[in-house]
This record gives sequence, structure tokens and C-alpha cells, in this order.
Amino acid sequence: MASPFRFALLQLARASELLALPQDLQQALRVPDRVIRAAIPVRMDTGSLRVFTGIRVQYSNARGPYKGGIRFHPQVTEDEVTALALLMTLKCAVVDIPFGGGKAGVIVDPKRLSKGELERLSRGFVRAFAPILGPTVDVPAPDVYTNPQIMAWMVGEYGKIVGRSSPAAFTGKPIEIGGSAAREFSTGQGGLYVIQELVRKLQLHPTRATVAVQGFGNVGYHLAELLYDAGFRIVALSDSRGGILSKNGDSMDPRNVLKTKEERGFIAGVYCVGSVCDGKNFKAITNQQLLELPVDLLIPAALEGVITGAIARRAKAKAIVEMANGPTTPEADAILFRRRIPVVPDILANAGGVTGSYFEWLQNMRRVHWSERAVLARLKPLMVRAFQSVWVAARNYRVDLRTGATVLALQRVVDAWQEHRRA
Ligand code: NAD
Repeated sequence: MASPFRFALLQLARASELLALPQDLQQALRVPDRVIRAAIPVRMDTGSLRVFTGIRVQYSNARGPYKGGIRFHPQVTEDEVTALALLMTLKCAVVDIPFGGGKAGVIVDPKRLSKGELERLSRGFVRAFAPILGPTVDVPAPDVYTNPQIMAWMVGEYGKIVGRSSPAAFTGKPIEIGGSAAREFSTGQGGLYVIQELVRKLQLHPTRATVAVQGFGNVGYHLAELLYDAGFRIVALSDSRGGILSKNGDSMDPRNVLKTKEERGFIAGVYCVGSVCDGKNFKAITNQQLLELPVDLLIPAALEGVITGAIARRAKAKAIVEMANGPTTPEADAILFRRRIPVVPDILANAGGVTGSYFEWLQNMRRVHWSERAVLARLKPLMVRAFQSVWVAARNYRVDLRTGATVLALQRVVDAWQEHRRA
């Protein structure tokens, strides 16, 4: 079975070689600081007790508190969570924000839980991991199948445990309890800024460029909406049930697709019963067909490992922008590089999310609130600068954008790491 952590280590090894890091240091960077597994007992609505497994990986705090999302998914593994925690470490360094990297997962199919069970699981997660969390220690956020409501339960539970309100302990909260303006769509917004830079470099026409987005959750939906509003042509969308293709190459308004999807109601008040496939007037396609469409921009925004070697050989997109974490396998990466299809890597493309989280954390620590305009005015220059730095690093080292981004990030992590160990 593919190992996302092995993939992430290959990426790390390539960058370490380019930076000519000593072998012992390379070895040290391959090991996460801490991996914690915890049992989370949950009283189900039937009265029976079920024990779920939660995993938190704290990969590195060399540059600041551990930072990374919590995923609720039946296929969560320690290997996957460790890979994502390493990617978070690199991502925070690419955008140069003062956080390290972490990630959490709970092995659960959350769509099979009632709202009460979901709340008890979320609060149980916090009780299990509270001793290793905290605003200056480790700050979780939402990821796949977790959202602001779940963060609200978690921060509430954390406050009960420590005996005071502690909004900076979690990010991605609802605005009413210390969330930040623009956080809900900051991953997509950061992606838009990156895409605008990319389009200039590739000399694509922003109002004619066609786009296919895989995944219609927090990241995929908001980015599709922002791109649509900026004039890009959204020709294909998908979610876990399948995809849709617009009939005459017209641009689909993601808001209308969402409306149709939401008409079927919600599971546990959180997860849509419906799918993008419920829309009429579109041609049904599979997720695989979406990845092979002849579009200008292909945007994977769901899960990892979807762009395999086989897909990379058949891909017809002009460029790929990784809004999901780890969607491209190393084999696919090499093929795409040979085929001169640029891949904007996850650690740059979706870094708007953690940057939005950083702004939320900063506002909570300082007890201030910034307007949406103020948040976006800070986000844009940070994303543009990161894109330009990655582009230059890739050119200088004659490597793909992923390796360029990793070299840039790794140098920053190593500098901080060495300072720490010397202290
Ligand atoms: P989400 O739970 O809101 O949405 C996930 C979407 O993916 C849903 O539309 C779901 O139907 C779809 N999906 C699930 N399995 C699929 C499959 N097999 N094929 C196609 N679609 C499938 O999650 P999200 O927060 O949007 O996260 C999506 C990706 O972006 C993940 O890789 C996550 O790690 C990454 N990411 C999220 C954030 C954030 O702020 N939420 C930030 C950075 C990166």
C-alpha cells in the first residue's frame, strides 16, 4: 500500500541533498518529535460505549508551536497523519509564519454519527489530548470532515479543562467565539492569489482559463467560487460521489451547485446528504475522468494520492494546483516534470489556510479583531511573496516547484532547529 509518509520523506531527502545537509541532521529531520495515540470513549445514542482511536503527531516545533488540522475519516492511519504533520512543518516555513507542524486524525466515519455523538467525540478528543495542547504548545484546526462547529465544541471543552476561556488554543472557530474574518475561505483565497501569480507566469488568460476542481468541501468550494467570481471558467466539479462537467464549456456557478447539493439536507447538522451530482443540466463524469480533462488548471482539493503515475501520463491539464495535501504521488511528480506540466505544491498552494489560522491565533493572543479587509490585506502579500520565492528557488536549483518549495522551507526549519539545539 502507498505510504504518504514515505512519499513525504522522499521529498525531504531530495531537498536535503540539494542543501548538502550532513547525514546525521538529515536523519534527525526524518523523525517526528512525538506521536501520541489515545483512546476516545464515546457514549453512543443507543447507550452503548464505543472507543475510537485518535492520533496526534507533533512533527517539529523548531519554528513555533505545533500547528495542524484534525481529520475525522475512516481511513486515517498513523502513517498518513505523520506525513501530513511533516508537510505542515514545511508549509508554515514556506509562508514564513512562526509555527511548527502537527496533524491529528480520528479513525471514524463521521457521517454515521448523530449530532450528539459527533459532539461527544469532539469533546472526547480534547479530553484525551489536552495535556499536550495549548495556545503556545500545539494549536489544532479543522481538516477533512471537521469544521467550525467542531472547533467550537473543542475549544469549549478545552476551556472547561483549563478553567478559563482559551480561544487561541484552536483555530477555525466560528466568528462569535473568537474566529477570524476570512478564515473559513482563507485556504481558497490563498489559492486564488497563488493561481493569479501562476497564470501570469504561464501567460494564461484569466478570463478564458478553464478549471476542473476535485473535491467540493471547504477548500474546493471556496476556491471554485473565488475563481468563478474572478472570471475563470469552472467546467468540472466533483465530490466523493462523482463529478459533473458543464455541457458547452460554460462556467458553472459553484453557488448554484452548492444550493442543489444542500437541498437534500445534512447528516448530524454538518455533512451534506446531497452531492454535486444531484445537479441537472450537467454531464456526469467520474473522479478519474475529471483528473484527465483537457483544462488549463486541474485542482485536486480532496484527498491524497489521487494523481498516480497512470493519471500523470494521461493528464491533459496545462498546470496542476494542489489544494489538497499530498494529492500527487512521487512517480506522478516525475512524469509531470518530464512532460513540463507544472505542479504548484500543496505546501505553497493551500498555505492560505494555516496563514488564516495564524492571523486568528494572533488576534486571540492580542485580544483584538481585524476586519475581513485587514485580514486579506495581510494574506495577499504573504502568499505572493511565498510564490515568488518558490519560483526563484525552483529556477535556481533547476528543479520542480515542489522541490523548490521544500528547499526554501527546509533551510528555514534547519536554521531554527540548529539555533534550538545550540541553546
Ligand atoms: P472537507 O471535508 O470540507 O471536503 C472534502 C471534500 O472532498 C468533500 O467534497 C468530499 O466529498 C470530497 N471527497 C472525499 N473523498 C473523495 C474522493 N475519494 N474523491 C473525490 N472527492 C472526495 O475537507 P477540506 O477541508 O476541504 O480539505 C480538503 C483537502 O484540503 C484535504 O487534503 C485537506 O488536508 C486540505 N487542506 C484543508 C485546509 C482547510 O483549511 N480546511 C487547509 C489546507 C489544506
